[in-house]
Amino acid sequence: MKLTLPDNSIRDIEAGSCGFDLAKDIGPGLAKDAVAIDINGEQRDLFDPINEDANVSIITINSEEGLEIMRHTLAAQVLARAIKTIYPDSQLAIGPTIKDGFYYDFKTNKTVSIDSLHDIEKEMKKIIDSKSNITKKLFSRKDALKVFNDNKEPYKKLIIEDSDQKNDFQLYFQDDNQFADLCRGPHLPNLSFIGSFKLTRVSGAYWKGDSNNEMLTRIYGTAWASEQELKKHLLEVEEAEKRDHRKLGKEMDLFHFQDEAPGMVFWHPDGWTIYRNLRNFVRRRLQASDYIEVNTPQVIDRKLWEASGHWDKYRENMYITEIDEEHANEKRVNALKPMNCPGHVQIYNQGIKSYKDLPLKYAEFGLCHRYEPSGTMHGLMRVRAFTQDDGHIFCTEDQIESETGLFIEFLSSLYEDLGFKEFDIKLSTRPEMRVGSDKTWDKAEEALEAAIKNLGYPYRIDEGDGAFYGPKLDFVLTDAIGRDWQCGTFQLDFNLAERLDAYYVGEDGKKYNPVMIHRAVLGSFERFIGILIENYSGKLPFWLAPKQVVIATITSEVDDYGVEILNKLKDAGIRAELDIRNEKISYKVRDHSTKKVPIILALGKNEKNNETVSIRRIGSNDSIEIDLKTALKEIIQENTIY
Ligand code: ZN
Repeated sequence: MKLTLPDNSIRDIEAGSCGFDLAKDIGPGLAKDAVAIDINGEQRDLFDPINEDANVSIITINSEEGLEIMRHTLAAQVLARAIKTIYPDSQLAIGPTIKDGFYYDFKTNKTVSIDSLHDIEKEMKKIIDSKSNITKKLFSRKDALKVFNDNKEPYKKLIIEDSDQKNDFQLYFQDDNQFADLCRGPHLPNLSFIGSFKLTRVSGAYWKGDSNNEMLTRIYGTAWASEQELKKHLLEVEEAEKRDHRKLGKEMDLFHFQDEAPGMVFWHPDGWTIYRNLRNFVRRRLQASDYIEVNTPQVIDRKLWEASGHWDKYRENMYITEIDEEHANEKRVNALKPMNCPGHVQIYNQGIKSYKDLPLKYAEFGLCHRYEPSGTMHGLMRVRAFTQDDGHIFCTEDQIESETGLFIEFLSSLYEDLGFKEFDIKLSTRPEMRVGSDKTWDKAEEALEAAIKNLGYPYRIDEGDGAFYGPKLDFVLTDAIGRDWQCGTFQLDFNLAERLDAYYVGEDGKKYNPVMIHRAVLGSFERFIGILIENYSGKLPFWLAPKQVVIATITSEVDDYGVEILNKLKDAGIRAELDIRNEKISYKVRDHSTKKVPIILALGKNEKNNETVSIRRIGSNDSIEIDLKTALKEIIQENTIY
C-alpha cells in the first residue's frame, strides 16, 4: 500500500496499518506528537486502519488541527463526563469547538452558575489526570440507541434517530468504559495530550438553536497548548473587554440602540460630535483631492434597482417601501438605497461626457440601509443603517494605475492621521464567472499591482477572489492590540456603467463605457468610530474628542475666572465646558475622566490670584500648575486640524 506524504514522498506500508504505524515509520519524534491523521483531506483517528493508497499527513498536537482536536476531546470526553459526575441527573446534548475553545450543552434541573465552574474544572482535571486512552468502538444503529437508552440520554438518541447515516455509529470510551460519547471524531488517542484550559461562562441555549425547543445549559471554555498561551489569551480577552466600544459608549454617553430601530444608532450629543469631527476631517481631505461631493435620494423607485441589478441579486437585504394607498395618488414600490452607486451614475449621465472630463470623482456621505439578520448585529461594528465615506471614480482603462496610486496615498495619509500606521493590502483577482474580456482583466490587474509596487507597499494576492465585475483591493488595518479590521476598498467595475448606459465620447468620437471604481477609506462612519473607540480605549486624540477641555472650579468664588477662561477657549475654537457644580474637585475629576475628557483645568483661589491653572491630562494622576497664557497657547497648539 502506497501512502503519499505532504512532501510528495511515498511510504510503502502494510495494508491495515494505521496513522500511528506510519508516524513511527517516519520517526519517533513524530510518533510521540501524533494525535490524528488526515487521509485524502479527511481527519481520522490515529488508530484507524488504512486499507488503500492515499494522500496522508500526520496531525500533531502542536498544529492548528491538533489544537482543534484537543478542544473537541476536552469538550466531548472531559467536560461532558465532569458534568455527568457533578450533575448525575443531567442529559448531554452537543459539544462542538468554537473559535479559541469549545462549549457543551446539557439539561439539568440544578442551577449552574459561574460559581459552579470551579468545581467542574476540578473534576475535569481529575479526569485528565487518569491519562486514559480514548478508544473508538462501532455500534449498529440499534445497539447505539440501546446504549443511550440505558444511560438515559434522550438527546443522543435523538441525534441517532435524526441521522441518515448508513454506516455504524462511532462511540468513544475511556479505559474504564464508564462513559460513552457519540461522535464523528477524531479524538485525541490519549487524555495526556490535553494542554491548559479554563471554563469561561455559562449561558442558556435552545436545543438545535430553536426557541420552540427547551432551554439547555451551556458551558463555554477556552483551551490552549500551554499554560503560557492560555494566560496570553485570557489577558487579550480582558483587554478587549475593557476596550469594548459598547461598554465605553455607555460610560462616555455617546450612543444607544433600542428595539424600535434595531441595528440603527441613536447618536447622543458627544457621539455625534465625534461623528461630525470625523466627517469634517474626511470632507476636507476629499476637497483637497479633486473629489466633488454630491448627494442622492434615500428612497428610489424599484425600476432603477432593477436596471442596476440590485433588485435581482440583493433584494433580501433591501428595505422596500410603499406609500399608503389611501393617501397617495401614485402607486410605486421603492427601496431605501443599500448603496450609492446607481445614484452617482444618474448624476454622471446628466449631459454628455467626453474623455477630457475623466477622471471624474464623486464623493457622498451616503446613508445606506441594509437588512442584516438580527443575530449578526454587534454595537456599531455591524448595523443596518450606516453612512459610507463613499466615492466613485469614473475613468478610462488607461487611468486605472494612476488613480490606484492616488487612492492608496490618500488612504494611507488618512489612516496615519487617525493613528493607524500599519495596514495590509489584499489584491483579489478574476473569478471563474466574470464579465469583461480577458484583455480588460489583464490590464486592470496589472495596473492595480503596478500602482502598489510603485509605492512600495507589501501586498498579497487572493487568486479568484475578485467580484464578477472587476478586481479589487482591500485594506486591512491593525489596531493597538493587534487586531485586524478590514476598512478600505477599491473595487473596479466593468459592469455597472454599461448596465446603466453611462458613457463618454473618446478622442476618436466613438462612445465608450467608463471604468467605474467604487472606493471607501473608512468603510462606514459608524463602524470606524467603534474601531477608533476600541483602538484608543476611548481616549481619542485631542482633535476628535467631543469635549476637549473641562474647566472645573474648586470653589464658587472663582466662577468668574472660569467663565473668562471658557470664553477664551471657545473663541479659539476649542470644545470647552465649565463645571461649576457644587461638588468636590475629586468627584469632578473622576466624572470627566470616565468621559475621557483629554484635559481638565482645575481652578481654586490660588490659581485665580496667580492667573494660573492646574492642568491635568487624561491618564495622568498629576496636575501641574502653569501660567494661564502658556496653558492656552499649549492647548490651542494641540488642536491640530487635520
Ligand atoms: Zn459603489
